[in-house]
Amino acid sequence: MSTQLQNPIRAKGKVVKAFGNLLQVKFEGDLRQGEVGYVDVEGNHLKAEVIEIVGDEVKLQVYEDTRGVKLNTDVSFTGDLLEAELGPGLLKSVFDGLQNRLEVIAEKTGYFLPRGIYVLPLDRDVQWDYLPHAKVGDLLERGDTLGTTMEGRFEHHIMVPFSFFGKVTLTWTISPGKYTVDTVVARGKNERGEDVEFSMVQKWPIKMGLFQGNKIKPSKTMDTGLRTLDTQNPIMKGGTFCTPGPFGAGKTVIQHHLSKYAAIDIVIVCACGERAGEVVEVLREFPTLIDPHTHEPLMNRTCIICNTSSMPVAARESSIYMGVTIAEYYRQMGLDVLLLADSTSRWAQALREMSGRLEEIPGEEAFPAYLASRIASFYERGGCVSLKDGRQGSVTICGAVSPAGGSFEEPVTQATLAVVGAFCALSRARSDARRYPAIDQLISWSKYVDDVALQLEHLVPGWGEMVRKADWYLREGDVIGKRMEVVGEEGISLEDLVVHLKAELYDFCYLQQNAFDKEDAYCPLERQIPLFQLISDIFETQFDFTSRDKAREFFLTLQGKIKSLNSTPFESEEYKHLWAKIKEMIATARKV
Ligand code: ADP
Ligand code: MG
Repeated sequence: MSTQLQNPIRAKGKVVKAFGNLLQVKFEGDLRQGEVGYVDVEGNHLKAEVIEIVGDEVKLQVYEDTRGVKLNTDVSFTGDLLEAELGPGLLKSVFDGLQNRLEVIAEKTGYFLPRGIYVLPLDRDVQWDYLPHAKVGDLLERGDTLGTTMEGRFEHHIMVPFSFFGKVTLTWTISPGKYTVDTVVARGKNERGEDVEFSMVQKWPIKMGLFQGNKIKPSKTMDTGLRTLDTQNPIMKGGTFCTPGPFGAGKTVIQHHLSKYAAIDIVIVCACGERAGEVVEVLREFPTLIDPHTHEPLMNRTCIICNTSSMPVAARESSIYMGVTIAEYYRQMGLDVLLLADSTSRWAQALREMSGRLEEIPGEEAFPAYLASRIASFYERGGCVSLKDGRQGSVTICGAVSPAGGSFEEPVTQATLAVVGAFCALSRARSDARRYPAIDQLISWSKYVDDVALQLEHLVPGWGEMVRKADWYLREGDVIGKRMEVVGEEGISLEDLVVHLKAELYDFCYLQQNAFDKEDAYCPLERQIPLFQLISDIFETQFDFTSRDKAREFFLTLQGKIKSLNSTPFESEEYKHLWAKIKEMIATARKV
């Protein structure tokens, strides 16, 4: 199967040196940094990106398998940048890092992804109900709405392309009706008096941030249904956070949880360099899942970009940027978008590989010196934007980090930690003890704690204080636990033992959550609040225990009861019954 280039060739060259996926090409014509080159191998055009130009030679990073590239292999350049195609129909899609629709490729070529095959990202046959908003004579600029179409339950704004600079005066708009994405829906004159026309599709270079409006401080909490996050380590819409942790600590489970339950409009799942089996699981499972917030199929709000460990390493880089570009595009419609990237370490590995081939001076652990700035500029693309008409949109970024050996001292974790708003670190000790989610609250932090507490204060007076108290118990309980390991239970006072038992109860009944239990997996705020109040009540209670054994026995029984409560349907008869029992148990043991 051969592939055709969509655009005319502007420059041509021949390979003079090949080193893995780095090609050196002698060229004639005009080239610019970041533009796409197509390497012609047996009629297939492999996508590559210009990363360095010196005289009449250029270095290209090829995004696909470079087997078969020889001396003098032809390379063509069309002047395109590595772009995302944006328009209605991105949701419910599964793309690879170069925005190929995977199911379409599978239909065309079978299940093994061949190289050099590109299909248009958006379906050209679907008819969209288009409603024009802008009127003839309107003076518009990039990002202004021309019209809208319903993409499922979302009002998809067809906007003046973000690559359009200056103003345009509309001279014609199409009447309401059903059209394909390529249909010209509006025409106008630009500032130089030239005619311009707009369809429902636009393109944007993925390595550049896409936004129009003003960046504002995040102000809304993102309810995730994960107690340990929402209560101790909250995230705000438009915020950034990372979940670093060693292999098998539960990073992917957390990402899947967020993709299913986070209270957000749209989720972009970027599987970047992780095992193919995990992605297959998502692809199998997702179409069958129902969104707990809207009771619609979950896929309606999801766009999946996958680049698994078996796909070319270089395309990991593009998949992360592709994901964030799509997220930014929906943000411009006033929607709240969550971008999940699993894992950014694999992306950093791709950077390291390329940097090595370019013979750049290596930084720490052979990562390029610009690693930290690349990571920072990726997370900077998150954030809240206020739009012209008063609407707000946000992109929240969550990156999983998988440090080699699990040490957080390594460059990717350190660079990430310097820029994110919340650090949710998973520990090996917790995952080994099967204390899931393995987020270690003793080393995790969130800059959003105070803002979120202020918001929750309206619902639950004293929330902030309760969270601080819980945090104190965790730390104190940990110190006492460590002391107990040395001196034994007999070596500490009964009071200290009770503090330790309270902290353990908090961990087992609240911070831990079983992702595979139907009821416990998702704990929305309405359910978290009474549970946290119950825990706070236990913290505040002075108990009357006659011995260490009695104290231990009491807390173990209580723990068992609260755990059963967690796996019981909220507000059911059984739930209410258990709740009453727990309250009674606490009241009976209270010191009078
Ligand atoms: P990572 O992505 O960090 O390598 P995974 O997310 O694949 O790790 O998790 C590894 C395993 O840990 C899972 O297959 C599961 O058995 C267990 N696990 C992780 N989180 C939870 C959880 N919240 N509840 C129950 N089991 C979990
Ligand atoms: Mg994983």
